[in-house]
Amino acid sequence: MLDDYKERQSVTYRQLKNILNDNLSHAFIFIINKNIYADGIVISFAKSIICKNKFTNKKSCIDCNICERIDNNDFSELKIIRPDGLWIKKDQLIELQKEMSTKPIEGKKKVYIIYEAEKMNSSAANCLLKFLEEPFDDIVAILVTDNYNQLIDTIASRCQTIALNNSDVNEYIKKYDFENKTLLKLFLIYNNKEEINEYMNNKDNEKFLDNVIKFILKYEQEKIRMICYNKKYFIDLFKQKDEIYYVFELITLFYKDVLQYKIKKSVNYFDSYIYEVEKISNEKTKEEIIKKLNIIIRSKENIKSGMNINLFLEKLIVELEGGIKNA
Ligand SMILES: [Zn+2]
Repeated sequence: MLDDYKERQSVTYRQLKNILNDNLSHAFIFIINKNIYADGIVISFAKSIICKNKFTNKKSCIDCNICERIDNNDFSELKIIRPDGLWIKKDQLIELQKEMSTKPIEGKKKVYIIYEAEKMNSSAANCLLKFLEEPFDDIVAILVTDNYNQLIDTIASRCQTIALNNSDVNEYIKKYDFENKTLLKLFLIYNNKEEINEYMNNKDNEKFLDNVIKFILKYEQEKIRMICYNKKYFIDLFKQKDEIYYVFELITLFYKDVLQYKIKKSVNYFDSYIYEVEKISNEKTKEEIIKKLNIIIRSKENIKSGMNINLFLEKLIVELEGGIKNA
C-alpha cells in the first residue's frame, strides 16, 4: 500500500495522497527517474484508486480480495500494457479501449497502466490521444516512463505529472543485494549513452563484456548449431539471474548498434568492436536485424531465477533462426 512509502519516499507519498484526496484527474504520467521503488509506488497508487478500502488508512489491505488479485496479476479492471517487442502498437490500444468500455463492477474505477509509454509508435499514440481526449469519469490512465522527452507533447499535456526522485546507488545495493557492482552500475546507467560508454571502457568490466561479445560472435558464426556451444559460451559463464539479464541488455545494445551501422554506418556503444558490428551488419538486411532485436527484447522479459538456461537459450536460438513461425 501507499503507506509503505510514507517515510522512504515522503515527497512523492504526500503528493500522491493529496491527489487521491482531491479531485482525481483522469490521466497521470509517472517519470520514474530510475527510482527503485517505482514499480511498487505505481501499483500502490493504482490500488488506492481502485480499492474500496482506500481511505480507511489501513496500513495494508490484507483482507481485500481486489488488492490481492492485483498482486497476482489477476484483476481484470486493472489493465497493464507493455511494449510488444520494440513498440507499443495500435492494436494493443484498441484492445485496451474495448476492455475499458464497460463500467467498473468490483473496483471504484478502472485503471490502465502503460509502461515504457514513450515506446508507443505514432499510430498507437494517436489512438491513446483520442482516448484521453474523451475522458470517462470511471477510468484512470497511468503512463510510466523514464524518457519523458520522448513522449509526444499532446499526450504529456493531458496528464498530471509525478516525477519520482532518483535513487542513489546505496539504495539499490540495499534493495537488490547485488554482489557484482559493475552489473549494478550497468543497471543504473542503462539508457544513458555517455555512461554506457564509460562502462564499456572500464577495465573492470572488460572480461564480462568480452564474454558477451564472444557469445554473440560464436552464435553469428554457428547459427542454429550454436545450441551445441551454449554450455561453453554461456551457461558456464553466466549463472545468476541478474548476470543473465545484463548479458541480454548488452546483446540488445549490440544489435541496436548493428542496426545503426546498417542505417548510418556508425555505432553508438560498441566502438571497440566496430569491425564485428560491421561484419554482422553487412550479412543481414535491416528487416532481419529488427526481427532479431524484437526476439531478443521479448525473450529478455522471460528471464527468471531458477529457469532452465539451456532450454531458454535453445528456444531463443531456434526462434532467432526462424524456426518458429510468426516469431
Ligand atoms: Zn484493497
